[in-house]
Amino acid sequence: MSDAATPGTLYLVATPIGNLEDITARALRVLSEVDLIACEDTRHTRKLLTHFRIQTKTISYHEHNERERATKLCALIASGTNIALVSDAGTPAISDPGYRLVRAAIEHNIRVVPVPGPTAFVAALIASGLPTDEFFFGGFLPSRTSARRARLAILRTLPVTLIFYEAPHRIAQTLTDAREILGEREACVTRELTKLHEEIARGRLSDLAAHFGNEQSARGEMVLVIDRRVIADDTTAHEPTPSIATLVAALEAEGLDSRAALKRAARAVGLTRAEAYRRLVAERAQARNE
Ligand code: SAM
Repeated sequence: MSDAATPGTLYLVATPIGNLEDITARALRVLSEVDLIACEDTRHTRKLLTHFRIQTKTISYHEHNERERATKLCALIASGTNIALVSDAGTPAISDPGYRLVRAAIEHNIRVVPVPGPTAFVAALIASGLPTDEFFFGGFLPSRTSARRARLAILRTLPVTLIFYEAPHRIAQTLTDAREILGEREACVTRELTKLHEEIARGRLSDLAAHFGNEQSARGEMVLVIDRRVIADDTTAHEPTPSIATLVAALEAEGLDSRAALKRAARAVGLTRAEAYRRLVAERAQARNE
């Protein structure tokens, strides 16, 4: 427990993910009352502020200057400046810069006040029609194929709805990988939520992979939502057993040491560590003989 003692406050202000009408009355008030707005892209945020006739000064805070800016912003807040953090769209710190600043603010005993509002994954989840009682939000999946497939394999046995952000040029491949690693499941791809070309595509992973394989469909900002269960009546559905060697290699590439990578890979495929190790040795021996 610690007492927030500094005179200034850090507000975390959500902004629209497309439709400007989604800004909250409180967000508008806070943005016009604070002394400074820290934003990912000052020109982008200036358009929003101009639309709402808000004249508050802005300062950049993005993934390339997070570390040193966090220190500077905390010093300003400690001396009495009230600062609002916004990102380009949606809720700051959700797959966006912000986390580091929040941590630094807490360490400096700064009061942190969330001003909630839109966030793309929640909008996607509630419109998907898939179970909302328990879900896992995985942010962006890794862009490298082997690492992406390894991440999916780790999530394969999680009995909750899975949610990911995905880039349009990768969506078809990710849907195909998900079909192969997770088995055929109901899913939903929401595209351009709250914008003019909003699309909510629901179907099986393989149907969606075919739909978004078309270049025209694969445009805009997207959220992928996947059901927790493999479709029972699908005769082609299978529970593939991913190669332990592939999983271990991908986890090592993500920075885990070989012991931790083996432990996580074993958990992902439901084996004990000893069984996983035996399979790893066998797979490596087979690979050498091929
Ligand atoms: N902070 C944001 C939030 O609260 O949702 C997320 C920022 S993240 C850098 C950007 C990703 O969010 C996009 O690549 C897309 O996956 C998702 N996203 C943002 N706006 C969206 C929209 N209008 N429709 C669908 N997905 C969106």
